[in-house]
Amino acid sequence: MGFLPTQTETIIAEKKDPPREYRKLSPKQPIDLTIDTRITHAEKHAAVGGDESFFVVDLGEVSRQHQSWKKNLPNVQPYYAVKCNSDPILLKYLASLNTGFDCASTEEMRIILDLGVHSDRILFANPCKSQLSLVFAQKARILRTTFDNIDELDSIKAHMPEAQLLLRVYANDDTAIIPLGEKYGAHLDTVRILLALVKELGLNLVGVSFHVGTGASNPSSFRQAIKDARYAFLQAHQLGLRPSILNIGGGFEDSSFKQMATSIRDVIDFGFSSAITIIAEPGRFYARSAYTLACRVISRRRQMTSASAAGIPDILYQNDGIYGNFMNVIMEKEVMVPKARGRYGSMPSLGHFERQREDEGSIYKYSIWGPTCDSSDCVVREAAFDCEVNIGDWLIYQNMGGESTHISTPFGFEMVSN
Ligand SMILES: *Cc1c(COP(=O)(O)O)cnc(C)c1O
Repeated sequence: MGFLPTQTETIIAEKKDPPREYRKLSPKQPIDLTIDTRITHAEKHAAVGGDESFFVVDLGEVSRQHQSWKKNLPNVQPYYAVKCNSDPILLKYLASLNTGFDCASTEEMRIILDLGVHSDRILFANPCKSQLSLVFAQKARILRTTFDNIDELDSIKAHMPEAQLLLRVYANDDTAIIPLGEKYGAHLDTVRILLALVKELGLNLVGVSFHVGTGASNPSSFRQAIKDARYAFLQAHQLGLRPSILNIGGGFEDSSFKQMATSIRDVIDFGFSSAITIIAEPGRFYARSAYTLACRVISRRRQMTSASAAGIPDILYQNDGIYGNFMNVIMEKEVMVPKARGRYGSMPSLGHFERQREDEGSIYKYSIWGPTCDSSDCVVREAAFDCEVNIGDWLIYQNMGGESTHISTPFGFEMVSN
């Protein structure tokens, strides 16, 4: 395959006051400045890696998301879903904000424990766990975990008898970018059987959970899932079990968050007593908007003769693609919208990056491809710029902190950044 990036550096956006000429510009300016500083540095010392893509993380953005969470869902304790993005910079910062953590694997639990986070603040929220990971969790006293099937209860009985169990019920938002209903969640007609088995095995049921899917935008899916969770609570009570935690999972999107939050508050107030502890597992909500990725154009193909006549856009080849930080192009069919550096926001281009002024309103269209020789390594079929893009230019992609990135270590991807 050739080029497989294993490392992408992450830089923290500078907090310092920007120089005067930038002060009146967009609120994103610390990011622009950090990108410029990094690129200028890389170009001066070519060996430092001017050919590598890099992330800039804005922890201020993470803090703003956290404030928004606390304002809109004040009674819901967030457990950040580590699988979404496990960049140590982000995890450390979230730990300092006192969030909890949702871990899906032994590796994720180890990372969070190594940050000094107490096991009480960690959920092992994977309903289908390996036996080895159960042994690890029991030893580390990460006792709260989810389940949704009979065989899992046998594993738990054998390897984590002190588990504090949350039954994961089926939920699905048809509008979700990544629906999870087919993979996980107990259907309502199995709830009774599962809870009876919990009781028979002498295990401890502490709550009910669900996850409507990533990128959910339909508030009625949360409403339905909360109703179904309430049904599971009632079944548990009938069996003499006493669950006290409702876990409403992840799936929160910026665009619909406020509306979702209102709807969630209403159903919860209606269906659950205030004695119930409510928690959630937001991933993307915290990570996505904080990360900006800078990629360099390494080559270019200008269409000639018949291709040019047919209107096929020129091609840019950049140093990062679907085998690197653009997995989301495949996973979620996300359509990337790059900006050329120097035209990013309203920031003027700097020094030797100054481009010729193009005519007002002219549009340059390119298709953008990754560096591998794989024919599926296409980042975006067509992107429009208001300037020509040349070899050596940098392209900037915002909102790159979601599940697309190589800074994350979903299950065994190379761990990155410093
Ligand atoms: C992926 C996942 C999350 C996070 O989902 P987002 O859509 O990123 O908020 C939460 N909980 C579980 C169990 C998950 O698998």
